[in-house]
Amino acid sequence: MHRGEYRDGGGVVLDDVMFVVFRGPKSYTGEDTLEISCHGNPLIVRRILDDLIARGCRLAAPGEFTQRAFLGGRMDLSQAEAVMDVIHARSERALEAANRQLRGALGRRTAAAVDRLLGVVARVEAYIDFPEEDLPAEDQAMVEDGIRSIAADAAKLRATKHYGDVLRGGLRTVIVGKPNAGKSSLLNRLVGYERAIVSPEPGTTRDFIEEQIMIGPHSVRLIDTAGLNPSPTLLEGFGIEKTRERIEDADLVLLVVDATQADGYTVDGNVISGDAPTLLVKNKVDLLTGTNDRGAGEQRPGNEVRVSAKTGEGLSELVTAIAGFADRLQTDIGEETIAINARHAAALAEVERCAAAALEKLKTGEPMELLASDLRGALHAWEEISGKIDNERMLDQLFATFCIGK
Ligand code: GDP
Repeated sequence: MHRGEYRDGGGVVLDDVMFVVFRGPKSYTGEDTLEISCHGNPLIVRRILDDLIARGCRLAAPGEFTQRAFLGGRMDLSQAEAVMDVIHARSERALEAANRQLRGALGRRTAAAVDRLLGVVARVEAYIDFPEEDLPAEDQAMVEDGIRSIAADAAKLRATKHYGDVLRGGLRTVIVGKPNAGKSSLLNRLVGYERAIVSPEPGTTRDFIEEQIMIGPHSVRLIDTAGLNPSPTLLEGFGIEKTRERIEDADLVLLVVDATQADGYTVDGNVISGDAPTLLVKNKVDLLTGTNDRGAGEQRPGNEVRVSAKTGEGLSELVTAIAGFADRLQTDIGEETIAINARHAAALAEVERCAAAALEKLKTGEPMELLASDLRGALHAWEEISGKIDNERMLDQLFATFCIGK
């Protein structure tokens, strides 16, 4: 690292800077690299950049440094993607998972699967040259077991996509309930400041309010919805329709009911369909009188909490319940938690498809070439995860989602 003056092409000193020289191959991209650290004033940055461009440099494309690192063999593609995940991580869990991927957890997993699959492919291909011979029984069993275990492995890994989505986008938590149950008040409590309009008039929240908050090590996207009014006006009806859509892609539904209302507990059965697990939140417990009424000492089901959005009572219990829910989504693969993204999931689905086709061919005794071709398809799909991709456009698209300078 050298300290010195940055002089432009005309010899004018622009700033007092630090020059850091990284000699390849021990640099991020593997190439010789120079980093210039100047003072943080955007005007200085701009003038230095303009000068560099005037001298023949150009701005890097988004993700270009990481793309070069990948193409130069410094990291596999799943590690390159993890660079972005690290930058965008909004929760401790997301950061942990991104760091594991950056250190090569998914790559190691992929390499092991590819190795095993290669063993099976080799066994099958050995017989291609002897079409008149059948696969001996022990080889047949080995090939079948091998394919099954590879497909099972792919399915198990693919199941981590949901957790991956939650890590990358936050736990989609939709707050639903009848008008005036206290949904907006609860959102405000959780967010910690007045965000939703709270009003004693039913049906105030017609639009969706969304807030990203941290609950322990988790990132949670809270979505407040229009009240589920049993006899809605036209406008409310529109909001209710939208609410149903939100519920369909929710990870968790907080069903808020007014604990003081006898009928507060009954909710339109059609509303909470979907697959999302539901936490029943009995609100306004501050208005309840008498110990029995408040359920003191009563055994409650695990999916129910009692709160007061007004006094804050029960809030920590609610927060713990949400965090516990997010924790349970985490699926451990071997010793490590891996949470894949959509690109990995698509490749794994292809692995499973090829494996199923191969098993079918094995069963019906089709020629070994056809079986081998399915297995090579599965091999190719596995390899795509760590980056053996012959599609340059796909790579360009992937890196274009990166930020400039990374
Ligand atoms: P929403 O229509 O479900 O969003 O309900 P709001 O959050 O707008 O609340 C409706 C009314 O109930 C407002 O007057 C709130 O002040 C009141 N409210 C909400 N939560 C509580 C609570 O825990 N205790 C009491 N006493 N009042 C509450």
